[in-house]
Amino acid sequence: MRTTSEALGRIQPSATLAMTSRVLDLKRQGIDVIGLGAGEPDFDTPDFVKDAAIEAIRQGKTKYTNVDGTAELKEAIAAKFRRDNGLSYETSQISVNVGGKHTLFNALVATVDAGDEVIIPAPYWVSYPDIVQFAGGTPVIIKAGADQAYKIRPEQLEAAITPKTRWVILNSPSNPTGAAYSAAELKALGEVLERHPQVFVMADDMYEHIVYDDFEFATIAQVCPSLYERTLTVNGTSKAYAMTGWRIGFAGGPRWLIKAMAKLQSQSTSNPCSIAQAAATAALNGPQDFLKERAAAFQRRRDLVVAGLNAIPGIHCPTPEGAFYVYPDVSGLIGRTTPGGLLIDTDEKLVGYLLDEGRVAAVHGGAFGLEPAFRVSYATSDALLTEACNRIAEAVHALR
Ligand code: PLP
Repeated sequence: MRTTSEALGRIQPSATLAMTSRVLDLKRQGIDVIGLGAGEPDFDTPDFVKDAAIEAIRQGKTKYTNVDGTAELKEAIAAKFRRDNGLSYETSQISVNVGGKHTLFNALVATVDAGDEVIIPAPYWVSYPDIVQFAGGTPVIIKAGADQAYKIRPEQLEAAITPKTRWVILNSPSNPTGAAYSAAELKALGEVLERHPQVFVMADDMYEHIVYDDFEFATIAQVCPSLYERTLTVNGTSKAYAMTGWRIGFAGGPRWLIKAMAKLQSQSTSNPCSIAQAAATAALNGPQDFLKERAAAFQRRRDLVVAGLNAIPGIHCPTPEGAFYVYPDVSGLIGRTTPGGLLIDTDEKLVGYLLDEGRVAAVHGGAFGLEPAFRVSYATSDALLTEACNRIAEAVHALR
């Protein structure tokens, strides 16, 4: 009997969400496991944002809104793009969706046909290839390892582009590596794209506000104005404002694409939650100084984790410019054997061993398209991070 669709068969459940539920299961059984798998800030949503949501409920903002966002939120987003990115979008060029994942989903499903290629640098955020495949397209992966600081080079981009290329996805700072492209690096990639007018550019800037060491965030439509008409600049409130549960993502881009995304959304989710939209409006229009304070806290944790992991022989952890992830290369551990006699021949087995023996949950590199490595999310307390590094060190020392 035929059950699910072919399109569904082309995708996998999210590996990061799977690890998060495995950790929750272990914790429910009373096992003391440190979860470094989840991709969300441990900070709380700011009080002024919560208050705006409560006020929205009181005022009866509990009804359907315009399909792809209220006028107030679109104006707040337009102001955000001007303020933070020097980008000018009218409200007709802005789409509001149910989280950044939904923004990407709408854009790709609205534009990708069978046979279309989408260039995705690896390590990549887990959902990109699956969404492309769901849409019927073909992911074209460019690998960028630790030796090139997890960033693709212009000549790699040039070599990957074909007449079938529909999109290239650039995610900076990156989930899972934390690597971020400077304005000059983006410009060099933009010069390649200028030669290929059939290619659209998806700039996934979800981690824009989480950057370190005076790194200056840049986005490609700003750095390469010639690409503005074919770039979708994607962002959201999930990471910067610690609003993962509220589900608000958004994008600025060409009117035809924004309209296409709204058409798709009108036949699926309809508008994002009206209350969450009011909260996001407050987040974008309110004080922004806490963003820097939170980034400073993340930077301290990054330094702690990078030092802790690099102190373990066999692990090489580059220092990322942003986000709240590190992506240590573990080639040095492949081929070793656990005290129980299991050969660690993949990063997946290593991560399984770290969970079973070290009681530390990370996500294996295979899920992000570049092995052998694993992703650590350091959006947790300094004390837990120190303990996690100690546990990983102890587990690794026990390998033969
Ligand atoms: N893009 C990247 C790179 C992410 O890491 C995430 C979340 O993990 C998203 C998009 C989606 O964010 P949201 O939770 O708003 O759907």
